[in-house]
Formats: sequence, structure tokens, C-alpha cells
Amino acid sequence: MKTILLPASGADTARRAAEIIRQGGLLGIPTETVYGLGANGLDENAVLNIFEAKGRPQDNPLILHVSGPEQVERFCHSIPPAAYELMDRFWPGPLTLVLPARDNVPRRTTAGLDTVAIRCPDNDLTREIIRLAGVPIAAPSANISGKPSPTTAGHVLHDMDGKIEAIVDGGPCSVGVESTIVDLTGEMPRLLRPGGITPEQLRAVLGELIVDKAVVGEVSPHEVVRAPGMKYTHYTPSGEVIIVTGTGISAARYILPRLGDHDRVLCYEEELGLYPPEKALAYGREQEPETLARGLFAALRQLDSAEIQTIYARCPSGGGTAYAVANRLKKAAGFHIVNGEEET
Ligand code: AMP
Ligand code: MG
Repeated sequence: MKTILLPASGADTARRAAEIIRQGGLLGIPTETVYGLGANGLDENAVLNIFEAKGRPQDNPLILHVSGPEQVERFCHSIPPAAYELMDRFWPGPLTLVLPARDNVPRRTTAGLDTVAIRCPDNDLTREIIRLAGVPIAAPSANISGKPSPTTAGHVLHDMDGKIEAIVDGGPCSVGVESTIVDLTGEMPRLLRPGGITPEQLRAVLGELIVDKAVVGEVSPHEVVRAPGMKYTHYTPSGEVIIVTGTGISAARYILPRLGDHDRVLCYEEELGLYPPEKALAYGREQEPETLARGLFAALRQLDSAEIQTIYARCPSGGGTAYAVANRLKKAAGFHIVNGEEET
């Protein structure tokens, strides 16, 4: 199969893209979070092809992308008032809601669950494609399973060339990490994955919010978890990632003596001067966590090379967007974290 690139500016792009979805094909779609690998979410065969193209385990459910909040009642039931409040406040945007699924949502899409994850992306063209297709688009991130998520059409082409019909090139993603996921099917709203909508923003609407343990720690592959995707290795380049905490200076003191020819440092722009230029890559500015979110996956992809053995990474702390960045980086590191202050 020849994968074609459809430019966002193309007069015909939305119509051609919608046609691919309607015919059961696979389409790379731009969203504000990361690029999605989309198919008709109501078509079991099309959905199966998503799992195959990504090499994604079949117990890892997909997110259903809709063109607006009015679509949600078609696919979900028993929707609590909190869901309407969140949709009202944050849609279109990087927030996914987990709600009870109606029977018209194939269990292939939900990986056998009776709940479905649903979101309205903040990308005009992608919402137009969903509208024209007349069906919701099921889409996980458009990377090979286990690899960093794609934040440009080039990343999608790298992972999916020849496996999918087309990619809509909408330029780099403005958020850069996947959506926040909130489960509204329990007694209390539960954060399953941090993302562009921060816990602080959610608490301002919901009052209380439980943070699922999969967000804060490693989950063994045998455990039953609420967000099945959280238990798999994620975002991993081929080398080992080690997070070094502490101040910039203490981290450099830890890293520099250990930094071999095949090792690299993934740091903040503010810290580039501490390391040999050929060994260090900055993924954004520590003082502006939004830049870290936008740059993280591209940097991990750049460092994904068989020649690189160890990647010493600097990881932001604190709430807001930094919380989502730290979650992805800790997963990439398999929660391997050393404290530069204590271990020099
Ligand atoms: P991705 O789009 O690749 O980030 O994958 C979608 C994520 O949404 C996965 O991590 C899933 O675990 C999560 N997810 C999808 N559907 C559900 C659901 N019904 N309940 C809980 N988590 C879900
Ligand atoms: Mg993913």
C-alpha cells in the first residue's frame, strides 16, 4: 500500500480523508495532543486493522473521537452531570471521558469493556473529517506500539508508511502529550492519565478527583488496571532511560563522570551549557513546561537509535503540564530514577 500525505490546506483533504474512513481504511489524523491512527470506530474490521498496524495488544482499548458533545449520548449511557460540566468547560480539547458504552460501540473498540473512552479533539479539520465521515473515529496514538507518540506527520510516516491509506498533515501538535483521561463510571471521578488538562483544572470543576495508582507508579503486566494502556511499556527509545533528579548542577555532577561515547543527556534548554554539545539534547525550557510537553516525544524519537546506550534525562516536577510530562518520561524510563544530590 502506498501511504499518501494529504496537506491540511488541500481543498479536497477533508472529503478524501472522510472517504477513507467511510470505506474502512486507516488514516493518520492530526489533533492538538498527538497524531492519531484513525478508523471507523463502529466498524470491527477497520478497528482490528488499527491494532494490527500498531502491533497493539488487543486488551488495550481505543479512544472514540467525536465532532461535538451532542454525539456523546449516541455512544454512551448513564452520563453523570459532571460529564456535561467537563465537556462544557474543556471540549473541544485534550480531555477524554470514560463513560458506560452503548451496545452500538463494538467491543473490539473498547477491548471488551462495557465503558468507552470518548473525546472531541481541538482540531477544526479533524472534526470536519469526523462530521463528513458520519461516524466516530476510533484512534490511538499513531506510533508503533511501545514507541514514543507522533507529534508530526513525519513521525507517523516513519512508523506507518505502507501500512495505512493516508496521513493528514496538520503540522506539529500544539500540546504534544496525549489527552488527560478521567473515568466517570465510579463513585468518584478518577484520573487515569494526566495530560493537557491539568489535575488543578479538573478539581476546579469536579471538586474531588482520585488519582489512579497507574498514574503514579509502575503497574505489572498481570495486574487488572482501569486504564489498560497504563500497564504497557511506553514511549521507549532503544537505549535505557535513567531520570536524574536534583538541581541542574547536582544532576550534571552525577551524569558527567558516567557519560560514555554511546550515552546522551536529555535536558532543559537552560542546562545545555553544562554538557558537551554533541552529547546533549534539550526538549524544551524548564521554566515553560508547555514547551517540554511539545518537545518530549520528538526528542525521544531523535534519541531512538541502536547506537545510544543510556539516556540520562531531566524530568520536571510539580503540577500543571509538568505533571503530564513527568508521567510520560517516568514511563519511558520504566520508573528508573536516581537522585543526583545523593548519589554522586
Ligand atoms: P492512546 O490513544 O494510544 O493513548 O490509547 C488510549 C488510552 O485510553 C489507553 O491508554 C487506554 O488504556 C485508555 N482507554 C481507552 N478506553 C478506555 C476505557 N474504556 N477505560 C479506561 N481507559 C481507557
Ligand atoms: Mg498511545
